[in-house]
Amino acid sequence: MTQVKAIRRFTVRTVLPEPIRPLARLASNLRWSWHRPTRELFATLNPRIWAESGNDPVSFLGLASREEFAELAADPEVVEQIAAAAADLDRYLEQPRWYQGLGAEAPAAIAYFSPEFGITEVLPQYSGGLGILAGDHLKAASDLGVPLIGVGLLYQAGYFKQSLSRDAWQQETYPVLDPDGLPLTLLREPSEEGQGRPLEVSLPLPNGRRLLAHVWRADVGRVPLLLLDSNVPGNDDAARGITDRLYGGGGDHRLQQELLLGMGGVKALRAYQRLTGTPAPEVFHTNEGHAGFLGIERIQELMAGEQALSFDEALTAGRASTVFTTHTPVPAGIDRFEVAQISHFFEAGLAPDVPVAKILELGRENYADGDPSVFNMAVMGLRLAQRANGVAKLHGEVSRGMFSALWPGFDHAEVPITSVTNGVHVPTWVDSRISALARSQFGSEAEANGRWDLAYNVSDADVWTLRREMRSALVADVRQRLRASWKKRGAADAELGWTDNVLDPDVLTIGFARRVPTYKRLTLMLREPDRLKALLLHKDNPIQLVIAGKSHPADDAGKKMIQELVQFTDDPEVRHRIAFLPNYDIAMARTLFPGCDVWLNNPLRPLEACGTSGMKAALNGSLNLSVLDGWWDEMYDGENGWAIPTANNGASPEERDDIEAAALYELLETQVAPRFYGSSVSEAAGAAGPSTTASKEAVPTHWVSMIKHTLAHLGPQVSADRMLRDYVNVLYRPAAEAGRTAVANSYAQARTLASWTASVRAAWPLVSVEHVDSVDVSADPQIGDTLQVNAYVALSTLKPQDVSVEVAYGKAEESDSLTDVTLIELKAQEDLGGGRHLFSGSLVIDRSGSFGYTVRVLPRHDALASKAELGLIVNA
Ligand SMILES: *Cc1c(COP(=O)(O)O)cnc(C)c1O
Repeated sequence: MTQVKAIRRFTVRTVLPEPIRPLARLASNLRWSWHRPTRELFATLNPRIWAESGNDPVSFLGLASREEFAELAADPEVVEQIAAAAADLDRYLEQPRWYQGLGAEAPAAIAYFSPEFGITEVLPQYSGGLGILAGDHLKAASDLGVPLIGVGLLYQAGYFKQSLSRDAWQQETYPVLDPDGLPLTLLREPSEEGQGRPLEVSLPLPNGRRLLAHVWRADVGRVPLLLLDSNVPGNDDAARGITDRLYGGGGDHRLQQELLLGMGGVKALRAYQRLTGTPAPEVFHTNEGHAGFLGIERIQELMAGEQALSFDEALTAGRASTVFTTHTPVPAGIDRFEVAQISHFFEAGLAPDVPVAKILELGRENYADGDPSVFNMAVMGLRLAQRANGVAKLHGEVSRGMFSALWPGFDHAEVPITSVTNGVHVPTWVDSRISALARSQFGSEAEANGRWDLAYNVSDADVWTLRREMRSALVADVRQRLRASWKKRGAADAELGWTDNVLDPDVLTIGFARRVPTYKRLTLMLREPDRLKALLLHKDNPIQLVIAGKSHPADDAGKKMIQELVQFTDDPEVRHRIAFLPNYDIAMARTLFPGCDVWLNNPLRPLEACGTSGMKAALNGSLNLSVLDGWWDEMYDGENGWAIPTANNGASPEERDDIEAAALYELLETQVAPRFYGSSVSEAAGAAGPSTTASKEAVPTHWVSMIKHTLAHLGPQVSADRMLRDYVNVLYRPAAEAGRTAVANSYAQARTLASWTASVRAAWPLVSVEHVDSVDVSADPQIGDTLQVNAYVALSTLKPQDVSVEVAYGKAEESDSLTDVTLIELKAQEDLGGGRHLFSGSLVIDRSGSFGYTVRVLPRHDALASKAELGLIVNA
């Protein structure tokens, strides 16, 4: 089969009758994926075809017959509805939104590069959290009017479809997508007559080969998303296969995907600008290391351009407007290539004006504990971007520690990696029943304005009824998916009657779904199978579990975990209370989050960078039960769910799993289940007391109050709108300003900063604090005394204004390390000749006890975004 390749491929596009022609626009703009009225319109036009299409408007248009279209076009009411929907879309696309109120200083365009984008299950170009986040980023940008352009790859088979074998081993299939049947438009060169040739991006490969790619555009509301596709006629078979699947193959295959994404992506962007006349991006956002080569392409552009910048100047100019987001504290999650592999590809002329040695330096782990034979994509990302961030507060902190070797001599707290906590796109992830209730009780204004606080005004009974409806919808979905899964596993219908009674719409429902890398600990719940069984089968307060997740195809440890779990769920004794659903995707997720009362997350802290599924659950009034990792570490407040304690103080991994699993069982048994069933006995006692049905409340008031609190407090915090505003304010605007300054007046500042940096680096080994003395300390220092500090500093060829000389003071520990540090800058007092300078200043002793201070020297320049930027410091 795979040997037979079409030499030509085309899809016969439906010709819509004039009166209903706007349907094509409504189908091709992905806004329908989060705009309920548009989906409802398609559903009401023809419910049968809508169901057959898998709720996919483009497929809907392909399935309907000419007669059916003619009938719709003859119905004035239908024509009017379609026109109204199209007019609404136009308003959405054109009206000024939040960003348009920011003024002319805000960046004119922002390019956002990501290896995956999860927008809708119809466009399966994602594997998990990273892709869904990127999709939500684009959607929120669209809603807020942020002028983002997404850049990614179009994978012919997306990630993979998961099913199970009879013995519960993950099976992967790779159904090939036809781009012509997807909500995508091929970019073409302009042409006098008819269709122009497809726009082509071209990269040289070793051995005289070339890699060509076409570019598809998806419209995500207002945001264009450009996807590069190497499956084009001009390529040899190997080159055609480069975009075959997401994270497929290792080594060279992955590397070529990343070269195409980063370098080809910038070329695609330039071609798009040329075709559409849209403004050039003023900020380039690298979403995870995979996209990092975009920085090399931009250096190439600047070195080859008419300004003929040197490498250092081009790097300086490019960095100023680049933002890098790191997404994982798990070393295995970071791409590392052999240095030799990188030079092999770049020697083919991928960036002909950039010396290959310079490129290699950017990714080299030439620091303490690094491996110098390795090219590290995250390290390159950090070196190519003047601004970087992690994706939750804790992850920012962990990242500062993890990458601290790049800034030797600095405290971890000073490592220039900030954080912007992820968020989720509310219209995508809130169940339509919740929006409907909000609209009916408070009007559509309240819904549009994100009035989450109104949750408090809904009656307890209404909340509880709604939760049961959402839980029932999940139960129905699970039954159907489970039957389908068993049929795939080889069971006959006659054996599957039991699936009709799986799960109970009145039982406390707990969800756990995510990718299955080891650190997420899918099987922690199985640590003591009998305890889990007892919870599932509890006479009065039972729980039920719905579980889903894909393992990376090359990860047998993950597949083993899935197998172990599925084999547990296959046991006839418990299978009505626990189900594993294959092929976790966006469609499943949209039923799963609202249907669960509790969302469980038990990663090994602090390896979960953020985690977003718990946020989606919270938006639907599910309570989180989670290890204090990622977002939960900063947003757990005692009333919005539960924190599973972490045993990270020296316990072995085995002990740690034992302790944390035991804590999980204990929480479920004594806190979560009794509260859900409104059996107050055990709550008051703080232990699992005997509870009887008779003592239960009809509506568990404490539980419902936690739901309301969750909606009111977490709703605004976890939304992708909040995240986008943070990105705009904390990163995009400063990066655009730095970028403009760098390039103004023929790159004047980039040039001076580059040569200044070179001179500072050259002089730095000779910089030292030769002597420090302090005057006026009495023999018996008191709080409030002033201490004058004089520092004699050797600066070699540098001038006093090139550096900051600081005194750092605080509480001195036994080990002489300082805590609670305050910094004061000393002033240059006197040129002592021979490159020596006196710096002095005074500080007030503001605390009792052991007091200490030290002096340090750092480079200083207005164009540096942080003191630590160059990684240079001299500590006395
Ligand atoms: C949200 C989501 C994820 C990511 O979940 P995490 O909690 O970040 O692991 C993965 N897959 C799907 C389908 C999702 O909706």
